Amino acid sequence: MTKRVVLIGHPVAHSLSGAMQQAAFDHAGIDARYELWDRASIDIPDTVTELRGDEFLGANVTIPHKERVVPLVDRLTDEAHATGAVNTITREGRRLVGHNTDVGGFKVALDELVGRQKMPRHAVVLGAGGGARAVVYGLIREGFQRIIVFNRHLHRAESLVKHFGRSAAHMDLKAMPWHESIIESELAKTKVLVNATSIGLTDDATPVPAEILGADLLVLDLIYSRTRLLQDAAQAGCTVADGGEMLLHQGAAAFTLWTGQPAPLDVMRAALEEAHAKGVVSAEGEGGAAGTGTGETGSSAPA
Ligand code: NDP
Repeated sequence: MTKRVVLIGHPVAHSLSGAMQQAAFDHAGIDARYELWDRASIDIPDTVTELRGDEFLGANVTIPHKERVVPLVDRLTDEAHATGAVNTITREGRRLVGHNTDVGGFKVALDELVGRQKMPRHAVVLGAGGGARAVVYGLIREGFQRIIVFNRHLHRAESLVKHFGRSAAHMDLKAMPWHESIIESELAKTKVLVNATSIGLTDDATPVPAEILGADLLVLDLIYSRTRLLQDAAQAGCTVADGGEMLLHQGAAAFTLWTGQPAPLDVMRAALEEAHAKGVVSAEGEGGAAGTGTGETGSSAPA
């Protein structure tokens, strides 16, 4: 029987994960199909129940449902529990386990960004959604001593900080209002800047003006693309990285969880690059660019 793995999100019409995971299954000789399920919030409980069937290896979960599935699975891993977000589901018999492989994906991306330098201790994070939760948790685990979270809607950044209250008790984790002058003054004291907003995903917008980017900053944009932010930062002399490595490694970890096999990283990277070059964008905040999803079953309604 062909096994099924599904991506649950809205929208999911053109998914880089689809191209990457299907290439990995095919390469490993695993008879499995990666399907894109576009689901409204109201349908999530029934959708998760459906995954308990024998034909499913598991699922990925993306915007906007990562937090919604948390109470619907039977067990959470430490990362999923700590972040309050699930991006991968596996089955143990009829029981479902919620994982968060974004955390491990972010760690690989951060390590590559920092390279041989000493791991910095101060970071500014822009955004307070599911991606930002994985980032902040990853930074706390990495031993960062000061993390400032800016978000358009301050209350969301405040709830993120509150969520991590206990694990961040030993350090300075703060939410601050999104004012250019405050961001500028925080950036002057920091070494790492992470964009975990979707600003720049579908257009040439940037979350911060080029003038406030100092040359010694390490800048990571979770968006898998050469965004305006990354272009400005590179121009200013910063070290920069996009979200490609994070996307690849969260996907590789998910593949291993479903199949018990090591992920064919080179195959997945090549599939990701090929799909990206064709204009397919990540289902992580998908912008509706042209492209061909794999095993698509949902609609392509924009968010
Ligand atoms: P969410 O929808 O949970 O959060 C979106 C974030 O972007 C919020 O902080 C939101 O602020 C902010 N935002 C959106 N539009 C604007 C705007 N016009 N002005 C200011 N802020 C804005 O999404 P995720 O956290 O899951 O994803 C965020 C980004 O990270 C996406 O671009 C996604 O592609 C990327 N990502 C990449 C991953 C990877 O593997 N590379 C993994 C996860 C995410 P507010 O709360 O005020 O609305």
